[in-house]
Amino acid sequence: MKIFISILLFLTNIFALDLEFSVGENGKSLDDNNTILIFGGIQGDEPGGFHAASLLLSDYNITKGKIIVAPNLAFDSIIKKSRGSNGDLNRKFANISKNDPDFKTIQRIKELILLPEVSMVINLHDGWGFYKPVYIDSMQNPKRWGNSSVIDTSEINASKYADLENIAKQTINSVNSSLADPKHEYHLKNTKTKEQGDTEMLKALTFFVIQNKKAAFANEASKNLPVNLRAYYHLLAIENYLKTAGLEFERNFELSPVGVEKAINKELEVKLFNDRILLFLKNPRKTINYVPFPVNKELNYSTSNELTAVIAEGNSFFIQYGNRFQSRIYPEYLEFSDAFNEVMIELDNNKTQVSFGTKVRVKESFLVPKISGVRVNVIGFDYSKDESDVLISKKNMQKPYSLDLAGKIYRVEFYELRWANFQQLLEQNTNSKLIKNAKSLDISTMKTAKMKDKFIGSFLVEFE
Ligand SMILES: [Zn+2]
Repeated sequence: MKIFISILLFLTNIFALDLEFSVGENGKSLDDNNTILIFGGIQGDEPGGFHAASLLLSDYNITKGKIIVAPNLAFDSIIKKSRGSNGDLNRKFANISKNDPDFKTIQRIKELILLPEVSMVINLHDGWGFYKPVYIDSMQNPKRWGNSSVIDTSEINASKYADLENIAKQTINSVNSSLADPKHEYHLKNTKTKEQGDTEMLKALTFFVIQNKKAAFANEASKNLPVNLRAYYHLLAIENYLKTAGLEFERNFELSPVGVEKAINKELEVKLFNDRILLFLKNPRKTINYVPFPVNKELNYSTSNELTAVIAEGNSFFIQYGNRFQSRIYPEYLEFSDAFNEVMIELDNNKTQVSFGTKVRVKESFLVPKISGVRVNVIGFDYSKDESDVLISKKNMQKPYSLDLAGKIYRVEFYELRWANFQQLLEQNTNSKLIKNAKSLDISTMKTAKMKDKFIGSFLVEFE
């Protein structure tokens, strides 16, 4: 059994996903070096922290001042749902070997911390139990980390926010005024890292920050709480730090345990290959078959949040949102054409322009007018080779082909016939992420692709 486990560990380590963490900015610096830097996901099994950080980019609008957010520091570990695939990233800030697989990641994190505009750094964690200054029981005692605000020392030598203890205490008061349950009460945990020579904390991110004369706070939420509640407590704390620094913001959801849950569980959008394909993941099927993949373009993608990734695995690909599996996609390899980016359709009897990589809502029916040299394939509508010029309503659709389990969302795909030889538009590179480590294609896949019609693009229809 032991050998089996160590082989498994070995295997998960050699299959590095090579995902880089994201950095997003929100707001505009007032040139006063008052930017707040927020980190999530330094350990892959702490979803409260990384979801809270991700929401700061996807669902907040900073209206005064600026934040920089890196929500998914240990992105490989987040996708693999492990604490750290190459050891604990948060113990590598004092010393790191150039041969360490995390070397580049640590360098990138340090560069962000050292940006002159950054004056405060917040690192989000989920820890077991509940930190209490005095021993209550095995889950609530001074050795636990959950639901605490952590500082390395009470005061630092810095031009801004030097009084760490008072700022943290004030944040704790603010969090404690909105507790979902009095048992979740937050407390201050001062690790006195340098004074007490805490060998572990000396290697951590926050100590690196204060050594560089900037304010650092770690916010811990308890792993004993559901993820939405952890993210809720993180956001309560973060909002107070933002207010302390004079930043102003708007948010797209209500800051309550339920509001945060809804925001975390919002439908995901994954756009593939320069926005030619949209996968709208609203209670998605566990597998999606015959997704066009290009043999003549790079495999790029974009996502509606920074915790979502498309991962190559053997002959298929899977989409993962943080620790959560979404769907596995099986590719059909094709040549891609850049003949056009949008089409005119009849949507509930109204002429409507639709761009590829988007979704339209259908009340009753839709129709795609015939385009010469083009074949239309409505996935789940079994009519003929070309499905243009025919009125399609929900009752015509075969439910097993929908993207979603509810049977409402379907793909409408456009293909250039081989003889058409359309003039090509300039390719617009809109996406920044690449699907890494995709298996290289064999000759027969390439040959077959060259005999098939070329894929131009697709959009989604969602029936009511
Ligand atoms: Zn942690």
